[in-house]
Amino acid sequence: TLSNALKSSVHGFQKDAVENWRRTDYPWSKKVEHVLNTVFKLQTFRLWQLETINVTLFGKDCILIMPTGGGKSLCFQLPAVVSEGITICVSPLIALVEDQIHQLHALDIDARAINSSTSKTDAAAIMNILNNPNQNHQMKILYVTPEKLAKSKTMMTKLQKLYEMKQFARLVIDEVHCCSTWGHDFRPDFKYLNIFKRLFPKLPLLGLTATATTKVIEDVKQILNIPHCVLFKAPFNRKNLYYEVWRKDSAKDCMEDLARVITQRFDKQSGIVYCLSQKDSEDVCGYLQSYGIKAGCYHASLTGRARTQVHEKWLKNEVHVICATIAFGMGIDKPDVRFVIHHSLSKTIENFYQESGRAGRDDKQSHCLLFFKYSDVFRLACMALAEKSGNGLKNLYSIVDYCLNETRCRRDCIAEHFDEVFQAGDCHKMCDVCSRIRKATKKNCRSDAQIIIDYLKNTVTSKNRLTALKLFEQTTKLVSLNREDHQRLILRLLLDRYIKEDFHLTPYNSICYLIPGPRATRVNDLQCEIYLDVIETNKIATTVVKETTTTAEQPRKKQNILTVPKPKLRWVNDDKKVVDKP
Ligand code: ADP
Ligand code: MG
Ligand code: ZN
Repeated sequence: TLSNALKSSVHGFQKDAVENWRRTDYPWSKKVEHVLNTVFKLQTFRLWQLETINVTLFGKDCILIMPTGGGKSLCFQLPAVVSEGITICVSPLIALVEDQIHQLHALDIDARAINSSTSKTDAAAIMNILNNPNQNHQMKILYVTPEKLAKSKTMMTKLQKLYEMKQFARLVIDEVHCCSTWGHDFRPDFKYLNIFKRLFPKLPLLGLTATATTKVIEDVKQILNIPHCVLFKAPFNRKNLYYEVWRKDSAKDCMEDLARVITQRFDKQSGIVYCLSQKDSEDVCGYLQSYGIKAGCYHASLTGRARTQVHEKWLKNEVHVICATIAFGMGIDKPDVRFVIHHSLSKTIENFYQESGRAGRDDKQSHCLLFFKYSDVFRLACMALAEKSGNGLKNLYSIVDYCLNETRCRRDCIAEHFDEVFQAGDCHKMCDVCSRIRKATKKNCRSDAQIIIDYLKNTVTSKNRLTALKLFEQTTKLVSLNREDHQRLILRLLLDRYIKEDFHLTPYNSICYLIPGPRATRVNDLQCEIYLDVIETNKIATTVVKETTTTAEQPRKKQNILTVPKPKLRWVNDDKKVVDKP
């Protein structure tokens, strides 16, 4: 019977358990379908939506992990309409909440929010409803910021009353990874949510996130006291995205490469260029405009009006490329974004996945290109240090590791980060590593490593410190590697702790110097192996020269980005510059 089947599924991920959550003969099933069609005006559920809705309507705790854009909101908005009582949704992002309330009002659903920007009258009206939950009101969803919730005694008393009167339908926690210091966006206020399960043991909890690492999820389960929750996870592999990393010499300005790749590969197509700082985004935007590209700028210091304007122009394809800081992200739902270029490294693999994942929502082939510069690592390291979670550097180094890699499928690396099993070959040459003609090899760089570390040991004193750039410059003549690989080796040594950071913080800035790390002495052992993925460039460089010459002759020609062999400009050595400005 149904209830037996459900009992057996209580702790499970078993196949039959999942099948049960997929059933459409629950007491609420008819209503669910009706509300889907008539209220939300949607025809079918996407992956895991029905299952999640069934679990939460059944009264069980649930965590749903789904990439951004997958459709997590419906999983609590629909049950909120179906259930009696009020659904409380904790969400840290006020702007996103405003969007959602707007959309819900358009569907005739009474949703409200209480946060720092709520007016006194609105807040009073909400409190009035909470005080008299049995009286006629239509409020279905109340959005709250975490700091307005658990820390507020008045609020908690009201929720207690709601709960006792069976009018507290469920607690939804959007961006639930914010509970965990292991996530990429730890928010201290989320930790107060731990009291809910203790105060309201029968209250169904529903956590939503696009963060999929096991560590974060286990942490979240523990913090929220929901060890036996049902967990659903949508696959993270975005088959239509082509991932590639372009290694850039820090000394060179990569603006020209950026402008060139946009005009040559993505002419008049919609895209985003993510930049590290507001100034960077303005500089990049200006440069692209001077190149004849219709670019706009987006960052947090612009007025709300300016931001809306550029966003709208972009939606209408009047602006093709948005040069933005990560402030550009929330609520972006443009289907035909053909490329996302990271002018600088992201802070974490997760951020990179989210940001680049804004490409190709329409399932058509799209490009995710990351410009990897040595100097960016150290700019970001100083920023990572300030992160509240204490895991900033660790997260940064995992994406640096992703960039140093040239031998393993990029998809495989991303999948591993999300604890997903990835079948070799499933990439279908949709990353630079898999589609490269001449494969990279692992080269033991111990002797060059020894030279670099010896130089550090012999040079660094409290009066003479070395920044990463100085270390690179001063050892250039000593090592046998080209500039790029030399920089990559220093990073490899940093990640493997042969070298470590020596941060100097002042109230005005922070500087990252380098010093020998805990493993430094090991390089003297001839058995020690320090591998760097290197690509023999000679042969490819010839093809490249040809290719770029052709494209230079027809700079406006639109190319099919996926049939043109990928490695191009970056193989052209800086010293033997062969490419002219188009
Ligand atoms: P997430 O929170 O996972 O990032 P959203 O809930 O914001 O995603 O949904 C992203 C988009 O997908 C929204 O425009 C939403 O209307 C749409 N959507 C969600 N579920 C469905 C569905 N079952 N059918 C069609 N569109 C859907
Ligand atoms: Mg969402
Ligand atoms: Zn691959």
